[in-house]
Amino acid sequence: MSRMEARTGRSRVRVRGTVQGVGFRPFVYRHAVALGLSGFVRNDSEGVLIEVEGPETALSELCRVLVECAPPLARVETVETLAIPSLATTGGFSIVESRAREEPSVPVSIDSATCTECLLEVEDLSDRRYRYPFTNCTNCGPRYTIVVSVPYDRPATTMASFDMCDLCRSEYEDPTARRFHAQPNACPACGPRLHFTDAKGAILQESQEALEAAVEHLCSGNVVAVKGLGGFHLACDATDARAVNTLRTRKARDDKPFAVMVADVEVAGDLCHLDSPAVRLLESPRRPIVLARRRAGTAVADAVAPGLPELGVMLAYSPLHHLLLSGCDRPLVMTSGNLSDDPIAHEDEDAVDRLGSLVDAFLLHDRPIHVRCDDSVVRSTERRTQVLRRSRGYAPEPLRLPVPARRQVLAVGAELKNTIALAKGSMLVPSHHIGDLEQLAGYTSFLQATDHLCHLYGVKPELVAHDLHPEYLSTKYALETDLETVAVQHHHAHVASCLVEHGCSDLVLGIAFDGLGLGTDGLLWGGEFLLADLRAFERVGHLAPVGLPGGTAAIREPWRMAVTWARAAVDRPTAERVGDLLDPRADQVLAILERGAPTQTTSVGRLFDAVAALLGIRPRVTYEGQAAIELEAFATAVDRSDAPAYPVAILETDGAFVLDPAPLVASVIDEIDRGIDSTTIAAGFHQGLGTATAKLAARIAEDRGVDTVALSGGVFQNVRLTEIVEDAIAATGLRVLVHREVPPNDGGISVGQAAIAAMSSAI
Ligand code: ZN
Ligand code: ZN
Ligand code: FE
Repeated sequence: MSRMEARTGRSRVRVRGTVQGVGFRPFVYRHAVALGLSGFVRNDSEGVLIEVEGPETALSELCRVLVECAPPLARVETVETLAIPSLATTGGFSIVESRAREEPSVPVSIDSATCTECLLEVEDLSDRRYRYPFTNCTNCGPRYTIVVSVPYDRPATTMASFDMCDLCRSEYEDPTARRFHAQPNACPACGPRLHFTDAKGAILQESQEALEAAVEHLCSGNVVAVKGLGGFHLACDATDARAVNTLRTRKARDDKPFAVMVADVEVAGDLCHLDSPAVRLLESPRRPIVLARRRAGTAVADAVAPGLPELGVMLAYSPLHHLLLSGCDRPLVMTSGNLSDDPIAHEDEDAVDRLGSLVDAFLLHDRPIHVRCDDSVVRSTERRTQVLRRSRGYAPEPLRLPVPARRQVLAVGAELKNTIALAKGSMLVPSHHIGDLEQLAGYTSFLQATDHLCHLYGVKPELVAHDLHPEYLSTKYALETDLETVAVQHHHAHVASCLVEHGCSDLVLGIAFDGLGLGTDGLLWGGEFLLADLRAFERVGHLAPVGLPGGTAAIREPWRMAVTWARAAVDRPTAERVGDLLDPRADQVLAILERGAPTQTTSVGRLFDAVAALLGIRPRVTYEGQAAIELEAFATAVDRSDAPAYPVAILETDGAFVLDPAPLVASVIDEIDRGIDSTTIAAGFHQGLGTATAKLAARIAEDRGVDTVALSGGVFQNVRLTEIVEDAIAATGLRVLVHREVPPNDGGISVGQAAIAAMSSAI
């Protein structure tokens, strides 16, 4: 043995990140003992603190292990090691109880998919957890959805009413066991149970028989509401067109795609084209719905995602899902248990009330869900993974503010796809997906989420950030509190949300393209070039404004925007001709426009609607963004290098630039008249709009001396447009920031609001 290896020392190791409630202490314990080190490990308010003594080679080996082999749910951010004087201890290694009641920085981890070890137990005939649907351990299982209060401990979860049996308790208390301090630990003897009920909630079967009854119903084409981790799913056989259509009719969901759950990544690969990042996402403990290009000719019914080139797939993420899927042996539709855009149901009684008319039966269990949490939705492209709905498996993981907040902030978000966010110090906590606030159920869910998240993170808001729009329920809520409020312009919030996730506090050119958001001039913005940082913005450019005939009716009826743009871009006779083909009420729309009465909008989302309607793709929509999504699908059929680029004018008026798509719309109409293929026209529209956007961005950036451009807003969920803009801007040497973790749509608004309010409090 060399002298180096024989040398001993003592180190204090500080580990920061998501390291509490994820099995980190037993993990340290096992490795320290195996390496023959003495000392202790303990949780405190900064994370995990370790003191170890022994051979230096063993000390450095432990530090390597901490980073490279951390438990699946842990996210180690930093490991700092400090050599301290030796205590010459030989007392072995121990887990020391946490000191006092210090406020944890991360009170609870994400809900996490069943780990391999647990799954093996569930499949093992000789194991006491064989076919037990609530099997979990320190590395997996429910967390955020069951936590009622902090500190995270069994009595503070919805598992409080289940007394652990002796076997479960001994696992729970054994530092070397996989279930040491696993708060939801349970088994068939002591834990939650399944029951199967009819559509009115009358119990028909329990436990294993309940599971078998559900499988039987699903296989014979029925719709079953399944209580899961964060709420109810409406489930049916995804290969049975009749079952899928029944679900669609009952759910009042005409075309909006359903997600499909499958047993494993092989089945997912049979349904969709998956690259390795998509496979990693599917298999990650977060288990989001992954949008991927669907394969032709699979068994999945067309009605699952009508007219769309993509399919949303996810893998089973709880033992209950695994058991259902292996029983049914086919992909299952698993869509949020709600009517249309209501929040997802999560309480048994409420579910029977609200979902009873939609389903044939319920598969319930007696473990309450405290926080409803929809499935997250991500898209993986060649360039990046983009989170489109950040919810189960992601919430309540905090983001980091570029500049710490002096005061505690609550940001209440927008109206649709609502989320809220908290800011405290340098921590920014976005909530799970709450949903649309137009309905009472949505607003109730919003109130619950606000209370709960504030409680979990010990936040007492001193400042409330809200949208400029006075009619949003979130705005009304903010103004009714007695607290100081900050109104944040919608598109400034979009741009700020993109800056936050890139840790950027510099002045940038933000491009916010989306549906509609209220501007500072009282008009409806949605195609904005903002010179912005986290403090303020200046509107330096925008799309040419046009009327929005019929107000919100124009959102549901893209043909109205087709008539409007045809008139603005060409002339009235052309608009009449276009309108005649699309809707008998076109002359009324023209009359409104002639009077010059309607609100003006600069929305790029509405321009997409107009072009989709002109092409006859979608004169009327049944869900937000439908026309734009289908227009993108048309464009994708044509290679970018083969696409024309229709012209867009760049004008300068009153010191601001105007991106005028009139020539582009005229070209679209002209090409339609010439009988050019719709896919080529859709591609030419994307190419023209994208390159002109980049050209204007480069010009403003040069004029104003900024070197970074941030892209945000719902329109940038469009991969084709994003890539055109990104490439053309990057080619001029500018840095381009694109969303990854925070949704580009209104789900990200609260993040931007919180950052702006935090900054205003930091002055
Ligand atoms: Zn596990
Ligand atoms: Zn037990
Ligand atoms: Fe928006």
